[in-house]
Amino acid sequence: MYQAFLIKYGEIGLKGKNRHVFEDALVSRIRSALKRAEGNFQVTKEQGRIYVEAAGDFDFDEAVEALQKVFGIVAICPVVIVPNRGVEPLCGDVLAFMRELYGDRSMSFKVHTRRANKGFPMESMELSAELGGRILDAFPAMRVDIHHPEVVLHIEIRGKIYLYSEIIPGPGGMPLGTNGQAMLLLSGGIDSPVAGYMISRRGVGIDAVYFHAPPYTSERAKQKVVDLARKIAAYTGQIRLHVINFTEIQMYIYDQCPHDELTIIMRRYMMRIAERLALANGCLGLITGESIGQVASQTMQSLQCTNDVCTLPVYRPLIAFDKEDIVQVAKKLDTYEISILPYEDCCTTFVAKHPVTKPRVEVIRRSEKKLSEKIDEMVERALAEDEVITVW
Ligand code: ATP
Ligand code: MG
Repeated sequence: MYQAFLIKYGEIGLKGKNRHVFEDALVSRIRSALKRAEGNFQVTKEQGRIYVEAAGDFDFDEAVEALQKVFGIVAICPVVIVPNRGVEPLCGDVLAFMRELYGDRSMSFKVHTRRANKGFPMESMELSAELGGRILDAFPAMRVDIHHPEVVLHIEIRGKIYLYSEIIPGPGGMPLGTNGQAMLLLSGGIDSPVAGYMISRRGVGIDAVYFHAPPYTSERAKQKVVDLARKIAAYTGQIRLHVINFTEIQMYIYDQCPHDELTIIMRRYMMRIAERLALANGCLGLITGESIGQVASQTMQSLQCTNDVCTLPVYRPLIAFDKEDIVQVAKKLDTYEISILPYEDCCTTFVAKHPVTKPRVEVIRRSEKKLSEKIDEMVERALAEDEVITVW
């Protein structure tokens, strides 16, 4: 029955002079997202609203699913459009709309009219009252509740008349492309895909890097990361995933450094390489899935040591999240089932039995001094052999 959607957006509405920049970005994201859905859609922006109208048949579920992945959308309202022929025909259209959606349901409702087209012969309040009365007459099981209605029937009078009452939640956030680009350290775990999603939701485009350690980590472990990248790319748009061969560096650190400092030093090298890639690719920050105290390498002291090697800001959106809260988002994103597949991770292969939980920055720096310039050559080699996999 629906031919269109009214798209509601939140925060963008608060923007001042450059509001149109955000609206245009949203319109363009909506257009490209709808390419995933069957149908021909026209996206238009008028008076602080965005409408998606389908020309002819379209797949409703696919369209909603696509729109639910567009950051910046707060709500998606499926709309029925009827011609503007005056009060009497509109009453007939409204009753048909209510019958189709709610039949004889016993429920409370209210009518909300917005008259953008002042040529219409009745004022908003008067029309709401008239339509409410007609609905009550036609559906005796319904009642009006102005303050807490179960259903609000919206009538928008423009060139044509738009009827809607359903509100499907969108993902919120800001439209992609309105906030630059960042480099996500993407492992096969539960946390980092969620972290990437959360930062991207603020309008940030995502590049990613995965540290691979063959033969200690398998092709399947790498494929898992590619699959995760693909899942979040449904929201974030195209992701260029850099696969960095980390084996040589890891082995060298394993040989040269105290084993209880292994994880911290390895993580410092990951951050250094990620920062190099970020700078080379126009990224303005790094993103990790770290959360205070989750593991030994994420205590406040460990985070201080990891952060010590970075000059770019490191965004850690999960920093104050409990694991359970992260899992909930991962399930919603559909990444959870992939993340729990049991393939080895390069951090687990070389993990010490008793890692330091309170490393001191000066001590770690001193341990790293013992690594010869060989490690710098290894870093250059790893960067030079960077394999890029593009997903979308
Ligand atoms: P995740 O569930 O995201 O793997 P984790 O709880 O396993 O996180 P760590 O292994 O300590 O935590 O990693 C912390 C963060 O470092 C990860 O969230 C991720 O951003 C990054 N990271 C860890 N291992 C890798 C890797 N092999 N490649 C890329 N990034 C990694
Ligand atoms: Mg991990």
